[in-house]
Amino acid sequence: MKRLRRLAGVVACALMAIAGVGQDAAETDVSDVMPELLEALQRGLYDDVISEATKHITKAEKAGEPVSPQFLYARGYAASRIAWYGVTEADMAKIGDFAPGPGWKPASEWVAKVRLLKELAPPNVHEIDDGKDVIFRVYYEEESEWADTVIYTLPEAYRAVCELYGATLAETTVFMFGDGARFNEFYQAENDGAVPTSWGWAAGGNGLLYFCERDADGSRLAEPGSEYFRGAVAHEFSHCMLARYMGAVRLPLWLNEGLAMWCGGLLAPDDFAQNDVRIAQVLAQERELSAPELVTHDEFYAEDQASTAYVQGFAMTRYLESEIGMQGILQLLTLAREKGDFDEAFSEGLGVDYYTFYRMWLDASVGMVETGGFNTR
Ligand SMILES: [Zn+2]
Repeated sequence: MKRLRRLAGVVACALMAIAGVGQDAAETDVSDVMPELLEALQRGLYDDVISEATKHITKAEKAGEPVSPQFLYARGYAASRIAWYGVTEADMAKIGDFAPGPGWKPASEWVAKVRLLKELAPPNVHEIDDGKDVIFRVYYEEESEWADTVIYTLPEAYRAVCELYGATLAETTVFMFGDGARFNEFYQAENDGAVPTSWGWAAGGNGLLYFCERDADGSRLAEPGSEYFRGAVAHEFSHCMLARYMGAVRLPLWLNEGLAMWCGGLLAPDDFAQNDVRIAQVLAQERELSAPELVTHDEFYAEDQASTAYVQGFAMTRYLESEIGMQGILQLLTLAREKGDFDEAFSEGLGVDYYTFYRMWLDASVGMVETGGFNTR
């Protein structure tokens, strides 16, 4: 059987440090640094921008020099994208109507937006630290068993996901809402009117986390402390971490969801065995989705296909891992981030394109169904 190539230069055993742009940049002249920072903003590498801008801001402050509005804008903008609203408000409020160029909103508009979001955000704040740094800043509406259970589960999810990816993540903002209506209002204000495309009770797609206790009809969406509940927290934290790491580079849905399900399985171990049972059923009944369907948003998340898509994405991710190891997958992500394109990184790194990979997975898995290789209990 055709094998996947092991990624060349296997040295890194984790995601490259998340804040990695220009770590040793000697330039202090804003005109040298800003183009790189604006490009990083456009690539969605917000953690990098915050880290880099902070170095320049701190340096100027220590020297008693005026801080360039460009650095304050860059940091304030990046902070707004991961909901570090305090940072955005403080930085942008110092620079009036400044904008770094045409096409960038003036700082004053960011201040206004953040002030509105602060009004709509849940009023109470709880910080979770890892003994050193704040890892989650949780905004919640009222104390409840449900809210407590999310708060207890977050650091567990953090430890498991960080260990798998060999990376840490600076403070993540978490919004917890009692019902879907208030979540929707907040989400739309945050995303300039866009409505959430799909919504369960937990979401983590854009670098922050949302949880919502009750559906529109008042029913509770997930039983606190259940395996499903715990797994979902880790699942969404995986999305959050990968979004922060990859920025504007889109992972294919099967892999993004597959890795998230892997992370869910770290807190809900039965998920792995369940995946074996279910993928064997899907293949035995020839209900598997095609390669294009697994990379197309409307097909993947279509109501009648989504449950199969998740099972298949998880199974394909596990197959990829069996071929190149989790370290290989992390290297693939790092390569995609560097190249700015996942498909290119996949073909170059693994020596086959996605469609060939899909075929390899299908052949191997159908073979396993025929020989009883899946543990279907
Ligand atoms: Zn997901």
